[in-house]
Amino acid sequence: MEEEKKICPVCGTEVPSSYNHDLYLTFYRCPVCGQYQLDIYWKEQGFNMNHLAAFLAHNAYPASDFEQRYYTTASREVCDELQKEGKGHPVHIDSEIVEAWYPRSFAEKIDLVLLYLHKHAPHIGQTIHFTPQTLYSFLFIDRYDFVNGQYVSRKGDTLEAEARFIISCLIQQGLIADRGKQPFAAAQLFTLTPYGYARIDEIQRYTASGRNVLVAMQFGDETRPLREAIRKGIESAEYHAIFIDEVQHNDFITPELLKYIRDSKFVVVDLTHQNNGAYFEEGYSMGLGKPVIQLCKQGVKLHFDIAQKNTIMWETEDDIPELLQKRIIATIE
Ligand SMILES: [Zn+2]
Repeated sequence: MEEEKKICPVCGTEVPSSYNHDLYLTFYRCPVCGQYQLDIYWKEQGFNMNHLAAFLAHNAYPASDFEQRYYTTASREVCDELQKEGKGHPVHIDSEIVEAWYPRSFAEKIDLVLLYLHKHAPHIGQTIHFTPQTLYSFLFIDRYDFVNGQYVSRKGDTLEAEARFIISCLIQQGLIADRGKQPFAAAQLFTLTPYGYARIDEIQRYTASGRNVLVAMQFGDETRPLREAIRKGIESAEYHAIFIDEVQHNDFITPELLKYIRDSKFVVVDLTHQNNGAYFEEGYSMGLGKPVIQLCKQGVKLHFDIAQKNTIMWETEDDIPELLQKRIIATIE
């Protein structure tokens, strides 16, 4: 497939892109938004463009991703086909997924900004710099106003002023070092302070803020309907479901998996397949004091230790979305 330079339709950076003529899909490799693909109808899918930019920046699959994961607006069925054909690991994205993830409060945004800085500065005390396009995305600055059903670009100096405001909030709260007024167009430098690191530790230990929910279950073609039913239940309660095979490339318990559990507000476990990993993940979550919502197909015998726990027993996958949504609303504040 030939590559050509295009403007990233999400953040406006010039990026390499390629076009799949059979499926009408355009693939972008953006340093801000990561790897993603859009179908020709993506504009009609009701994305909030401001929220999409923040979502992609915070959850980006970088070009170096080992498993060639990328977001795509193609349907989940097309994702399965692409994966079967060996065309990497597409992860479906739609406006509901973006809205379920998008932080509701200013404090939640600040927490996510800190986690972003931490992710991009792996060395303690490291100074990192960001281009304005990156800043707008990860600082949750709206690039557009929505006027009469149309997205209208906001002025560059307004965006800059708002980005500077968030940066000054981070400085005032003592979370990043004060580097004085820096020229904006080149790149802004950031260094986390000891207090910033302490705050990150705290967020990671008790992410009371995030909207992520890790799902532990048996993965594979045969459990696709189960996965989608669980996803639907979590999304309808306005949380963002994380399936570990969509974010990590093997079946082992890894530090990355444990981190996802720590970062989750609560954990959903389906025990139908008596999967050891799912039992482990449930135990680990309980040890951290995370709420766990347990599901199991009727007729499957649960291990004694957890059979005591109140479990959503489902008969068919169709039962799950509503039962799960109700349980989340009833048990998670
Ligand atoms: Zn981009």
